[in-house]
This record gives sequence, structure tokens and C-alpha cells, in this order.
Amino acid sequence: MRYISTRDNAESVQAAEAIVRGMVPQGGLYVPQEIPQLDEAALGAMVDLGYQALAKEILALYLDDFSAEEISTMVDAAYDASRFDDAEVAPVVKIHDGLFALELWHGPTAAFKDMALQLLPHLLVHSMKKTGVDKEVVILVATSGDTGKAALEGFKDVDGTSIICFYPDGGVSEVQELQMLTTGGSNTYTFAVKGNFDDCQSAVKEAFANEALLAEVDALGCQFSSANSINWGRLLPQIVYYFAAYMQLVRKGEITFGDAIDFTVPTGNFGNILAGWFAREMGLPIGKLVCASNANDVLDDFIRTGTYDANRPFMKTNSPSMDILISSNLERFLYFMSGRDGAAVTADMQALAKDGRYSVSDAVRENMAQVLASGAENEAQTLAIIGDVFAKDGYLLDTHTAVAVGVAEAHNEGRVMVVDSTANPYKFVGAVSEAVNGEKSDASDLDLLGALAEKTGVPVHPALADLTAKPRSERHVITTAEINEAVLGVIKSRK
Ligand SMILES: *Cc1c(COP(=O)(O)O)cnc(C)c1O
Repeated sequence: MRYISTRDNAESVQAAEAIVRGMVPQGGLYVPQEIPQLDEAALGAMVDLGYQALAKEILALYLDDFSAEEISTMVDAAYDASRFDDAEVAPVVKIHDGLFALELWHGPTAAFKDMALQLLPHLLVHSMKKTGVDKEVVILVATSGDTGKAALEGFKDVDGTSIICFYPDGGVSEVQELQMLTTGGSNTYTFAVKGNFDDCQSAVKEAFANEALLAEVDALGCQFSSANSINWGRLLPQIVYYFAAYMQLVRKGEITFGDAIDFTVPTGNFGNILAGWFAREMGLPIGKLVCASNANDVLDDFIRTGTYDANRPFMKTNSPSMDILISSNLERFLYFMSGRDGAAVTADMQALAKDGRYSVSDAVRENMAQVLASGAENEAQTLAIIGDVFAKDGYLLDTHTAVAVGVAEAHNEGRVMVVDSTANPYKFVGAVSEAVNGEKSDASDLDLLGALAEKTGVPVHPALADLTAKPRSERHVITTAEINEAVLGVIKSRK
């Protein structure tokens, strides 16, 4: 399997090379040249597979430069029972008839990012060996909260790697920041950056493309890579849980094998929902993929109108992992929706960089409408949904999942609907407590954990239960202009 650039500006490479590079050096994202197809018999043979066995089969289709043993070792290490506290790894739980939650937060950091970031370090280390890279890989991450902690945890003490996370100062929850500062390990670093997530992400992208910086880093025996969802190694593991969800519903007798189901995905960088699109393209019976946005509804507008316009106020909301105006993985989707028109994608991305907006052709819009629907929920609606669902169904939603539940209810086409549940409710305990209690509390997030558990009877996720007891690293605050310096500082301090 070869991987090509969404901008038709680079030679094709094998999976290992695409994963080591993170993104196409001259701009653009790697996509597989062909999408593997599974017929009914192949899908039928997956019904009884557990998560790890399923992951091995699906990964093998995309990683033909890896041996079966390598894939097996990586998957077993990533989705081990010591890391995921549910035997299904990503269990499907009924909210009420016709509506299910795919719980993607049973990993070590209580957020869905673990699904990919427990595997990525293994993929990266194996890919480095295959491509003959003997430099230390420095992972640069821009995070709106959850990626940072999941990446720090995934790369912690992995030989031959170090990881530096940048997050918006004041733009992540108290619990998220505390999770990041208590990672420990000998190769993990964090910086709070003045600005919002897009400022952070843009500055990190610039660092990746800054030739003077790259030369200096190279001279120090290091090479950058990315754990953001622009890396194919981040996206690929996410395809697996769409299959896992479907097969669980068949096993539970909630659907008959062959029935189409829909998914609603709380969306930010468009990585999760894009993985669902790959699953659908491979032959999994998915009807619609519904893209759910919060008040930063740039994607909902785009899907409805065909114009992507990031020129709008950036809102800080109670679902901060979706507070994004520049949605990176959309580039990959546009590539396929435009019939693999790299020139059109390049023009759109250049317009986005220059003017913050672009419009796609009617043909692209029609292609999107075949597979996608969309909607948005504001902060007040998000809280109301959490309160309602807990009162009626006894199921406790986090804010991101609540956005998706609201949008899902508006897109019922009579098929079973699965909502991707992307965070454990305790990860956003301030807003969830407010929703359940009907009023805001002055208590700190840490105090609210126990109070909410007592009120709801839902136990606190183990990753969040012992936060205060752990040693904390120092909080560093920098400006976007200081990012390059911070990176070099870290690298030199390790020599
Ligand atoms: C990252 C994240 C999202 C958004 O996922 P994308 O793949 O970026 O679209 C949604 N919810 C939570 C809790 C997240 O951490």
C-alpha cells in the first residue's frame, strides 16, 4: 500500500515513511492510494472477533510493510487489559431504544484520544526502525487538552522519543491541565501558550515547516514528528472501533448483520469522523455520518453551504476539545470528495491560509451530502441535554458526547444511531455537575469529582481519581513567538 499527498505534490511512500514524517514535507497530508474493500464474507468473519483481533486484521490491510508479528506485538501492547478497563476496549452501551453510546474513554486518560495514542508510539518506533532513522524523534503536539495528555501518556518513557505539548493558556479545563502536569516520565514536556488552540496549532505547523529550525534540530541529532491527527498513524487505529461497534451490536442482537447504522460524531479536527468514513468506504454498513459541532459551528456551516469560513469569533465553550476553527483532517476528506483532485485541494488550502475561507464546487457538495449530515448545539443546549438524558435514561454524558446526542436526535432516519462518546463525564466535571444539579458551583473541579459521584452513583474514572496525589511538574507560560526557542531549549537540555 502506497501513501500519496492530498496536494499531488510528492512521491508516494510506504506506511512507515508516512508515519515517521507525520505530514507531507512540502505541505499536504498522506492518504492511502487505495481503500481496502471488505466483502460480506470478510465482514461476517469479523462478527465474533474481540477488539485486538479485529485491530490486527484491519491494520494489516493498511500496513503491508509491517509483518503480522509486528502488528500483533503492537496491538497487544496498546490495547492491553492493564490500559483499558473494559473487556470490549470500546463498549457500546444503550442510552435508550435506537440510541447507543460507543464509549471511547476506557483508556488510561479517560478520553477517546487513547484509542489512537496508545498505539501510535509503537507504530512510530517500528516505522523509524524500518526507515533507518537513528535520530531521536521529537513529537510536537498542539493540543486543546485531551490529545496532549493522551500523547504524553502514550510516549512516556518510550525509547528514542521525546514529546513536547503546547496547549492554550486558560483554554483547557483544570482537570486536563492537572492531568498533563502529572504525567511524569523522563521525556515529557508541556508549555501553556498565550492564545487560543488555533494559534497554538498554527505555530506548531510553522515549526514543522521552518527550514532553519529543522536544520538546527537535525544538527542536534533529532527529527520532528507529529502525534496530531494529521499523522496517518493517528487516524488508522480509529477506523477499528467503527467495526467493533457494529460487530457488538450484531452480537447483542440489537441489529441483524447487514443492517445499516448511523454514527454521530462530536467533531473538532475531523479525524474521528473521517475514520468512520474510511470504515464506510471499506464496506461497513454505515448509512449516514453526522458531524456534530458546538458553538464553533464552522463545519456545520460548511457541510450545509459548501463554504468554509473561519473568519468568525473563536468561542471558548464547555466542550473545549471541539473549540476549533481550522479543522485539519477535512483536507483528506476534500481530496476524496473532489475525486482525488489534488490541484483543487491545494487551491482551497491556499485560500484558507490566505483569506480564511474557500468554497467547494457543487459536485463536491453533492458527494458530501451522500454520506454526511450535520448539526450544532450551543453551551446552554449542551447542559440541558446532559440533565435530560441523566434524568430520563440514567446515563451520564460528558459535554462533547452531549453535543452529539443533541444533534443525533435531530437526524433520526429510522436506523440505529450510535453516538461516539469521546470523553468520560468526570473529565469535564464542572459543566457536567452544573447540568445535573441545575446550578453552577464555586467548588474546584477536584472537589466536584467526589460530589458528582455521590449524587449520580457513577464511579469516578480511575485516571481521574488520584490526580491530586501525584507530583506536579512546573507550569511554563510562553507566547507563540517563543515556541521554536522552547523546542530547542528542551532538545539541548536532553543532551
Ligand atoms: C479530540 C476530541 C474531539 C474531536 O475529535 P476530532 O477527531 O478532532 O474531530 C471530540 N471530543 C473529545 C472529548 C475530544 O478529545
